[in-house]
Amino acid sequence: MAFVEFRNVSKIYTMGEVEVAAVDGMSFDIEAGELVVIVGPSGAGKTTLLNLLGGMDSVTSGVVTLDNRPVSDFSEVELTYYRRYDIGFVFQFYNLVANLTAKENVELAVQICENPLDPVKMLELVGLGNRLDNFPGQLSGGEQQRVAIARALAKNPKLLLCDEPTGALDYQTGKAVLKLLQDTCHNTGRTVVIVTHNTAFEAIANRVIHVREGRADKVTINRRPVSAD
Ligand code: ADP
Ligand code: ADP
Repeated sequence: MAFVEFRNVSKIYTMGEVEVAAVDGMSFDIEAGELVVIVGPSGAGKTTLLNLLGGMDSVTSGVVTLDNRPVSDFSEVELTYYRRYDIGFVFQFYNLVANLTAKENVELAVQICENPLDPVKMLELVGLGNRLDNFPGQLSGGEQQRVAIARALAKNPKLLLCDEPTGALDYQTGKAVLKLLQDTCHNTGRTVVIVTHNTAFEAIANRVIHVREGRADKVTINRRPVSAD
């Protein structure tokens, strides 16, 4: 069994009389330790896919499993624990707490975790060992995204999910964040899934899932991912 399995998954949103199949019979696998990139045009269903994988939303039909656990059968309570313990999230706009320092932001996130990693060590890992006591407003965009990555990693999640992690960054800063995510995956064996329009991610990914009209249109396995540096 693959680490992540999507089997004929659909997510239908109903708005009055209108039904929208945001995800429409999607199937794919992800192996443990892979860096996976999700690409596709706007409206293809990428964010919905990530939300289903992260337990932020539940499927209309089909089966989602992670590490042999039936995520698509989870109750609301089980989903809350799943999001808390098993999944790390990184968003386009960092979502840091403005009146907490970098260190406090990471500490806050791990308070409710089962097996957290050391917040200071995680901030050192992302190259911010000298920025522990800075507030988000005192950090550049790239640095804030590094704090967000440290915060997600400190939860020691089974799966790291990133939605447009370089979308708000300039090219060079985005490249550094990309390298950080690749190193995170390779050095810790953590499974990382990234939704992005940044085509630079495709060359470094182990697997690229092309999403179109709610389906996994094509999956490319990359046997020789290039180094991000
Ligand atoms: P992408 O991330 O690839 O741009 P999304 O997953 O955001 O695509 O959206 C896929 C489709 O589902 C779009 O047509 C979008 O309008 C629709 N959709 C997404 N979320 C909702 C929602 N909460 N309610 C209704 N329609 C939605
Ligand atoms: P970017 O080009 O990535 O947007 P900035 O020009 O905003 O970066 O910041 C450059 C450097 O100055 C960064 O290392 C950032 O942490 C630091 N910096 C920016 N604003 C402040 C501040 N108010 N207090 C302390 N350091 C700051």
